[in-house]
This record gives sequence, structure tokens and C-alpha cells, in this order.
Amino acid sequence: MHRIHTTTSQSDHLVQIPPPKEGGSERLYQGIAVAPGIAEGIVFKYLPNEQAIPVREISEAEVDNEMKRFEEARCATQSEILDIKKRMAQSIGVTDASLFDAHLLLLEDPILLKEVHQSLCKELLNIEHIFHSIVKRSCTHFNQIKNAYLRERAIDIEDVSRRLLHHLLGKPKQRVYVPNRHHIIVSHSLTPSDAAMLHDDPVVAFATEKGSKTSHTAIIARALGIPAVVGLHNIISEVSDGEAVLLDGYHGVLIVNPSSETLARYQGMKLEQETIEKNLKELRQTASKTRDGRAIILSANSELPEEMGSILANGAEGIGLYRTEFLYLNRSTPPEEEELYKIFCTIAERMKPYNAIIRTLDSGADKALGFVEYPKEENPFLGCRGIRFCLQHKDFFKVQLRAILRAAVAGNLRMMYPMISGVEELREANAVLEEAKQELRQRGVPFQEELEVGIMIEVPSAAMTADLLAREVKFFSIGTNDLIQYLLSIDRGNESVAYLYNPAHAAVIRTLKKIIDSAHDAGIWVGLCGELAGDLLFTPLLVGLGIDELSVSAPMVPRIKKAIQSLDIPACQELITQTLHSESATENHARCVALAESRYGFLL
Ligand code: PEP
Ligand code: MG
Repeated sequence: MHRIHTTTSQSDHLVQIPPPKEGGSERLYQGIAVAPGIAEGIVFKYLPNEQAIPVREISEAEVDNEMKRFEEARCATQSEILDIKKRMAQSIGVTDASLFDAHLLLLEDPILLKEVHQSLCKELLNIEHIFHSIVKRSCTHFNQIKNAYLRERAIDIEDVSRRLLHHLLGKPKQRVYVPNRHHIIVSHSLTPSDAAMLHDDPVVAFATEKGSKTSHTAIIARALGIPAVVGLHNIISEVSDGEAVLLDGYHGVLIVNPSSETLARYQGMKLEQETIEKNLKELRQTASKTRDGRAIILSANSELPEEMGSILANGAEGIGLYRTEFLYLNRSTPPEEEELYKIFCTIAERMKPYNAIIRTLDSGADKALGFVEYPKEENPFLGCRGIRFCLQHKDFFKVQLRAILRAAVAGNLRMMYPMISGVEELREANAVLEEAKQELRQRGVPFQEELEVGIMIEVPSAAMTADLLAREVKFFSIGTNDLIQYLLSIDRGNESVAYLYNPAHAAVIRTLKKIIDSAHDAGIWVGLCGELAGDLLFTPLLVGLGIDELSVSAPMVPRIKKAIQSLDIPACQELITQTLHSESATENHARCVALAESRYGFLL
């Protein structure tokens, strides 16, 4: 069993940079695409120097004065952040600007303030040194956590403390200095407030060693429309100031010293993308329908409440997957029912008249919770993750279920369970749901009796029994990230077997067909929310299989819509006929690419 309330961590999966290409000066680095767009410029390394922090002994009589200085610096930092927040709210909207609330909360953290006072009294050293040491310890702790989302919190702490130390030391905070607009910032990491300053000093793009698509900085980059690639390990030592560089925020690629052919290729792509972007506004209002009129609901995946604005702005028809585990990740205790209820209510209200599918907690494996002590597992991806964890901790699970049931009164929420492996497991989850309803009835709290419940199909046993499962739920959502990993036995985080990942493998196509046909035979709808849904090369395949809904990252919504609008059902069905019985996954892949290229090559 697991103990809840203690700390552990599990491995995460960042993309490794391939070695530089041999035989030429062009070097290509693969990272994680977090904000779309193509930018060309020269490298500007942003390396904020750690400040020299003076150390001096103080007498007991000086303690009060040191605390007073600390309070003044804290207040000055608060007003500085409020000011940035206000400016950001005016330019990118209130929701995204509210990211700075986390910084304001840090400044008021009673545990931190108590620790500062206690250390000051005990160590009798100047307040700058005391504060700096505490922050360093805390960042070291966060940086050691292998969970990418939690590690991002170290960046928030560093950012706030740098600001406060500048006030204590009487220096203004260093700005991100960008000599002219054609520089691409290369940095170890960028804090949200660094990114906010990029808004004042526009840059063409940024690339960082650290980061993930859920980092606050990535959210701001998307909101500001700055192309960005993160997770480029050691990139600072690989590039020099002034080197020519090209950043592809669509594919997460940074190319140093691009050849004239590469530049020409990207120049063409950039012009085409600019034309597409220009038409994007109109595209947002058009229907997600094939040329011959088949409607496919196009919704967005979401990990954080801050993304609602971008989801709507990109024209998504609701949320197809809300990954609730991100509400549990950056904390030392689990969220309570009331807190979850409020967040789910906000989602329900913002998404009206569309639906939002809340996925129940999918923790474990690469998404370990900070307050759970996990027993060591040899194969965590085959271990106690997803619904299995929740069914082993039913009281804990019911907190979330009650919050979802109650919030569903506020709008069109649906709910789905992750990692369901068969009918009995589904029934057990539904029995817990019934208990949660009963508890709400006893409390006399209003809730949505008719909440629509679906499941993710991401385990091969669920795919094989899709016909049985379809009788018991309102919808399926196919999680191809896990389904393909289990079906083809490819660890989704292991780059050495990544070449085997091919959604056009006949095994994948047959499995998807079985799931979709089973759903339709039972009269329910079926969506797909794995990364495959946002892969333009495979849109023809998914349309041909008869998928009803695709849920993709918000920035991909307009492009996938364009792809859908460029296709017709007979051509996509013909592709399925050709691929279902093909012995070659490579040929199948080529067939998908050929159809995609012939219909919307300009998007690829
Ligand atoms: C999936 O497995 O495809 C999925 C959407 O879930 P996650 O990526 O959160 O495991
Ligand atoms: Mg999954």
C-alpha cells in the first residue's frame, strides 16, 4: 500500500538532444515544442549571474532592524509583482497574468517567514545571507525531484527570491537585455517574470535547457505568441553568442548555423505559416467538418486552469481531456473537495455551452504525487497507476468524485476514468461513484445525478473487450500515448526504442478500428485524446476510422481543423482499406503522409 502525505519522486521523460550532425557546420538539436512558430536570428545567451551575497555577523540588538529591512524588501517585491501582473493582464488577459499569484503567495508563505525569523535569531548573520541560504536549500530540494512539473516550482522560487534580494541589496532587478529584435534567447531557464519582460522587449523566440510544456513560462510563451522550445539539455555550452540560429516551435527543433537550403526551406514554411496564421481568425469560426460534411468535434487537452483562455481563443469546442493530476502535483498535501469543486466549476462555466471532460486522477509512473510514498515498483508503467491507485484509496478518490459531481451542476461536465483494464474494474469505479453520490445526498448537497461517465481506452485488454465496456459507459476516449506503448511494447519515454513507434502499424490501426466500431455498434461516441490526435500526418487515418472527436493541445486546434476541412471520407476510408492488411508499417506511414501532403501539405 501507499502512504499518503510523504514525499517521493519518479522519473520523467525529457527528449534527449541528438549529437551534432557530422560533416557540416549545421547542427540540429531536438527539444520539446511548447509554443508554435518559426524564428530566425542570432544567439543571445541570457545567463543571469548569481548575485554576490555579502555575509556579516550581527548582534542580537540588530535582529529587529534586519527583520524590518526584510519586510520593506518584501513589500517592495509585492508591489513590483503586482505591477507586472497588471501590465500582463492588460496585454495577455487576466487568466494568464494570474500566474503571478503563485509568486505573491510565496512572498506570504508563513512557513518561509517563520524560517527566516528563526534562522536570523539563531545564526545572527545578515538577512540577505539568511534568506539566500533558505531559498537555495528549498530550490535544491525541488531540483532533485524528478517530476518535471514540481521542478518547475524551483524556477518560481528562484524568480521571487532574486527579486527580493535585489531590493535588499538596493539594486533593481536585471532585465532580460535584448540588444535588438533579431536575437533568440538561449537560457538555462526563463522565469515567468523574465518571460513577461520579453513582452516589453519583444524577442523573436527563446530556447531553454529546462522546462516542460506545463511550465508557467511555456504558458506565457503561448499566450504572448513567442515561439519556444524547451528541454534542450546543455544547449548553453553547445552554442555561442552571435551564432546564426533557427528555431522551429512547431517541431521543437533548434538549428544552429542553418545551411542555405535549410534557411530556404524554413523561409518557405514560414511564409506559408504566416498566411495560415492570417487566416486563423476566420478558421476559428468555421465548423470542424470534412469537405463532404462529416462533423468531427475538435476539443482541447488541458493540464492547468490557466489554459482556458487559450483553449477558447483557438476555437476549441470544449475540453476533451482535463488531466486533473496536475492539480495534485505541486503540493505537499492533496487538494480538498472545496478547492477542487471551485476549479471544476470555473472550468464548467468557462466552457459553456461546450462540454469539458474531467479525467479522474491519473497518478503514478511518470506522474508521482509529492505527498504519496510509493512502494518501489520494477515496472511503474505496469504498476499502480491511474484508476488502480484510486481504487486502492477509495476515500481519497471520493473527494475528487464528489467535487466533480457537484461542479457538474454549473455546466456541461463529463467524467472519465483512466487506465480501465476491464468491465469489473469499471464497475468497481462506478460503485465508488455511487458511494460518493450517496454521501452528497446525505449531506443534502446538490449534484448532477446524470453525470455522463466514460472511460479512456489505453490498455490493450480494454481495447479487446471494447464491445463489453461500451455497454456500460456513455463514451470512450482513446489514449494512444499509453495504448501504443502497451500494444507495441515501446516504453513511451525510452528514446532508444522510439523508432518503433508507428501509429500506422497494422496492429494499431486494427485496434483503433475495433474500439471505434465497438463504440458505434453500442451507440456511443468515441474520441481520441492522445498526442496522435494532434499529429497532422495521421488525421486522414483517424477520420477514415470514423473517430467522432479529436482532443489536441490548444495551439494545434486551428491546424487540425484545417486538415479535417481538407479531407473527404471516401479517400480516408480507402487509406484504411489499404493499411489494415498491409505487412509494412513503413509503407502504411508513407500512405498516410502521401494523403496528408496531397490535401494540406502546406501545414506539414
Ligand atoms: C494517453 O495515454 O494517450 C493519454 C492521453 O493519457 P496520458 O498521456 O495522460 O497518459
Ligand atoms: Mg494515458
